[in-house]
Amino acid sequence: MGLSEKANQPLGTALVEIDSANKGNPEKNNGQKARMMSGMRATGELHIGHYFGALKNWIELQDKYQCYFGVMDWHGMTTAYKTPSDVSQWSKLLYAEFMAWGIDSNKSTLFIQSHVPEHIELFLMFANITPMGWLERVPSWKDSIEEAQQSDTHNLGRFSYPVLQAADIAIYKGMLVPVGADQVAHLELSREIIRRFNKLYKIKLPEPKPLLTETPLVPGLDGRKMSKSYGNFLGLSEPSEQLRKKIMTMPTDPQRVRREDVGDPQKCPVFVYHKLFSTQDDIKWVTEGCQSAKIGCSDCKTCLFDQIESFVSPARLKKAHYLSEPNLLDRLISEGNEKARVEAQKTLSECRLQMGFTHSREVTKA
Ligand code: SF4
Repeated sequence: MGLSEKANQPLGTALVEIDSANKGNPEKNNGQKARMMSGMRATGELHIGHYFGALKNWIELQDKYQCYFGVMDWHGMTTAYKTPSDVSQWSKLLYAEFMAWGIDSNKSTLFIQSHVPEHIELFLMFANITPMGWLERVPSWKDSIEEAQQSDTHNLGRFSYPVLQAADIAIYKGMLVPVGADQVAHLELSREIIRRFNKLYKIKLPEPKPLLTETPLVPGLDGRKMSKSYGNFLGLSEPSEQLRKKIMTMPTDPQRVRREDVGDPQKCPVFVYHKLFSTQDDIKWVTEGCQSAKIGCSDCKTCLFDQIESFVSPARLKKAHYLSEPNLLDRLISEGNEKARVEAQKTLSECRLQMGFTHSREVTKA
C-alpha cells in the first residue's frame, strides 16, 4: 500500500511530485534526505499487481529518500482477525519477499508494524482527537459497509483504519507518502488528523505530502481486476510450473478461435502482460504475428512465460533462501524492528512531553 487499505492497489511506476514545495529539491530536508513512509497490509501472498503497484516504486525510492517500509500486520488483522496466526505467518513471508526483491536494510528501515508498539500508542492519541464525522465520511468505509457486514468485519478496527494510518506515518515523521491519484483523499485525512494534533498540543509533526504515481493497469489473468479472491493473479513466488499453467490457460482475443484466425493484441489480456514484461522486439513480434496469424497463441504465451519466469526467479530464489534460514530471517526482522523503534520512541516521547502527559512513565527529551 501507499498505506492503501486495498492490498493490491496499483500505485504506478513513475513518480511525479505534485507538491510544489517539493519540486525544487524534493530529496532534501535540512540537508538530509526527506523521510518517506509506506507499507503493505499483511494479507497473504504478493502478486505482480503488488510489484507494479508498490514494490517497484519502493525499490527506486530507496536511493532518493530516507525510507520506512512497513509490513502492516495490524491493518491485516482488521479483516483477518479470526486467524491471527495466519497474519503473523504472512508478515514473515512478506518481510522475506520485500528483502528478496531489493528492499535493502542498509538504505531503508523495514519493520513489522506490531513489533513497534509505538504505532498503537500514537494511534490512541490520534483516535481521541479525531471527530467521528471525519471517519464516517471516508468513501472507502461507506462503500464497504455492506461487504464488511457480510464478512463479519464491520468493526472498530476497520472503521478507524485511517487513524492508524496517520499514526503509521507520523510515528516516523514521514514527510512523503507514495500514493496513486485515487488515494490522495485518504492521505488528506491523515494530514488533517496530524494538523489537528499539532494544533492542539503545539507539536510539529510533518503533514505528509503525496508522491503521486502514474498507474500501470495490471489486470487479472482473465481481464478482470487482479484479485486473490478471483484467483486470477500471478504470485511473485509461485512455482514455475504453476506460473506456466496459469499463463498457458489465459483467455485470448475471443475472435481468434482457430490458429489461422488473425487476432487483435489490443483485445487480449496476454498482450497486456507482454507490455509489462517483454522487450520491444518481442512486443513487435507478438503484434505482427498475431495480426497476421503467423504465430499461435501458444507461441505467444510461451514467450510471455519465459519473460515472467526470468523476471521472478531471482527473487523467488532469494526468498526461498531467507525462509530456509529462519534464524537469519528472525535476526534481520529483529534488527529492522529495532531500527524503527528508535525513531518511533523519539517521536512518542516528544509527543507525550509536549502534551504534558508524563505522569505514567519517565519521559526525557529526545
Ligand atoms: S497471439 Fe498472443 S496477443 Fe494474439 S490473441 Fe493469441 S495470445 Fe493474444
